[in-house]
Amino acid sequence: MDYQEILEDIYQAIQPYAKEGKQADYIPELAKVNPDQFGMCINTIYGETASVGAADTRFSIQSISKVLSLAMCLSIKGDSLWERIGKEPSGTAFNSLVQLEIEKGIPRNPFINAGAIVMADLLLTHLENPEDDFLRFVRAVAGNDTIDYNRDVAASERSCGYLNAAIANMLKYHKTIDNDIERVLQFYFLMCSIEMSCRELSLAFMAFANHRRKFDYAGIILTPSQVKRINAILQTCGFYDEAGEFAYLVGLPGKSGVGGGIAAIYPLQYAVAVWSPRLNSKGNSVMGIKALELLTSQTKESIF
Ligand code: GLU
Repeated sequence: MDYQEILEDIYQAIQPYAKEGKQADYIPELAKVNPDQFGMCINTIYGETASVGAADTRFSIQSISKVLSLAMCLSIKGDSLWERIGKEPSGTAFNSLVQLEIEKGIPRNPFINAGAIVMADLLLTHLENPEDDFLRFVRAVAGNDTIDYNRDVAASERSCGYLNAAIANMLKYHKTIDNDIERVLQFYFLMCSIEMSCRELSLAFMAFANHRRKFDYAGIILTPSQVKRINAILQTCGFYDEAGEFAYLVGLPGKSGVGGGIAAIYPLQYAVAVWSPRLNSKGNSVMGIKALELLTSQTKESIF
């Protein structure tokens, strides 16, 4: 398979969608990003790599960080994690409050904001230096020591993070989180603010694509079965209320973020990351989804 040629074809084919959608502007710092950018990078378990566009430009990974916090939480808590968070698709928006109220403060899954805020709380409880430990893990899994938080983005999100604050308050009311609400929110926003390029993300997601490889990064250890289970949750919950559409169009487990990034995996074959800031109404990258749909159509490779 000539992935470089395929990616170059895709790059051409998605150009008609270049102006569709709108970048996230509810986080003031993200509104400053040039929306007309696109990058894509694929890495196979056989060591092949291919990329197009701005594959080396770093962007705000936002909710893609939830996959990494889930890996950490599962390594630390094992199956007892599921006493606090469910693993069912939500079918609701990433920041929805309604379901959380009805379900008495137990988030549907780790990839909606409520679930990730609970994971931030657990990490604060269990890690000695949560900020340093999370960053060390991300750097280890991506094999790159220059990856960092963007504290301006985190502060910008906090400055108008009213809905996430409401979610954290509801979680606290139901005793699903233990730590101080403000501390939990600050750490949640900080994790979302990590910046990575498509190349770095796809390398990081190789750890999930190849569950036969030992998962042991900066002391965070998962069994092959735990990695496969993370992939199952990616498949069912990675795209909020568009998870069904993504499965239908693309057919790969993946996770999106409102920075416009998507990381996806084809188990035991490859990890791919794509980035373009313009989002559809569900908060997922328009060109990103299109590019991945073309990738699995052209290669005829998907999990289905
Ligand atoms: N930090 C973002 C928020 O809480 C993450 C959402 C996303 O990337 O989907 O709204």
